[in-house]
Amino acid sequence: MAFPVQFPTGQNTLDEVRGKKLSPSKYFNARLFCVDTRFASDQSYLFFAQFVTETHMATNSMSIQMRKGKPITSDGRKISSKMLQNKQEVEKLITNKDATRFMQPLRGTPAYWEKTLKDLNAMVRQLGKPTFFLTFSAAEMRWPEVIEAVKAQQGEQVDFSQLDWNAKCDILRSNPVTVMRLFEKRVDALMTDLILSPAQPIGEVEDYFYRVEFQARGSPHIHLLVWIKDAPEFGDLQDDSVVIKFIDQYITCQMPDPNADPELHKIVSEVQLHSRNHSKSCKKGNVMCRFGFPKLPMDRTILTYPTPDDDDDDDNDNNDQQQSAPKNKTRPRTSYKR
Ligand SMILES: [Zn+2]
Repeated sequence: MAFPVQFPTGQNTLDEVRGKKLSPSKYFNARLFCVDTRFASDQSYLFFAQFVTETHMATNSMSIQMRKGKPITSDGRKISSKMLQNKQEVEKLITNKDATRFMQPLRGTPAYWEKTLKDLNAMVRQLGKPTFFLTFSAAEMRWPEVIEAVKAQQGEQVDFSQLDWNAKCDILRSNPVTVMRLFEKRVDALMTDLILSPAQPIGEVEDYFYRVEFQARGSPHIHLLVWIKDAPEFGDLQDDSVVIKFIDQYITCQMPDPNADPELHKIVSEVQLHSRNHSKSCKKGNVMCRFGFPKLPMDRTILTYPTPDDDDDDDNDNNDQQQSAPKNKTRPRTSYKR
């Protein structure tokens, strides 16, 4: 807890008395974005910073809830100290979410995600079904500029093409803060410079929602929902051809021509193909591949509608997921990546 490497003289810590008040998040921002990478490169320090910031936010949020005055349960009863000494009453407060509401502003807590889910459901009610569900994974191992930026911060230069997998991992691990910031910038650029740009690569965006998730080894990816203006709704039309025309306008599953665009061909072959060996996730439920790969080639787009049998399968899937929920939480699907 003393972090002697970061604070050899014991000065400039968070709890030091300062002329100007400094919030933990401002303080840690300055530490982690500092040109001196002693802070950002120490994983224990990162967890310490997160712990202190979240504790501070939780305490703040609690005192706001208390100051709001009327401590009343959602069924309208006044919360008294007598009530809090009764085990059954406290359990009831927890089940009604009265006891956990203060955690709502704290990113990542169940209360936070519950509110996010409600907001998202409100979007669906207002805007209808989303048009696209897109997943974008970070490919730090393929981004020379991320590796080079981390090294440059440490005052060194590297030749990306000479690095093997382990060397790249070591470099990325040496400053997770920079790696994460670059990912965030890329997501921003993906949204503003591409998806929301006047070029409208997937149509005119009405609204969108995304969530960042992390794979087991810490690599981030986003799940993105996009509502496109005037998109035809699947299953709503008598004529499928309108939907098919819309899909064909924006989606292709063709291999790019290796002669016309060798670079694109290489990228698609390496990261956009379902692995021939399948992933662990593919083989869940004792099947070769629960996503049904390899699929037969098709020369045109067709729409398939759920049948009662498919519904049964879905139910089974959900049950499977619930049973192994903790595992899924920490390790989202990785089937689309090596
Ligand atoms: Zn598979």
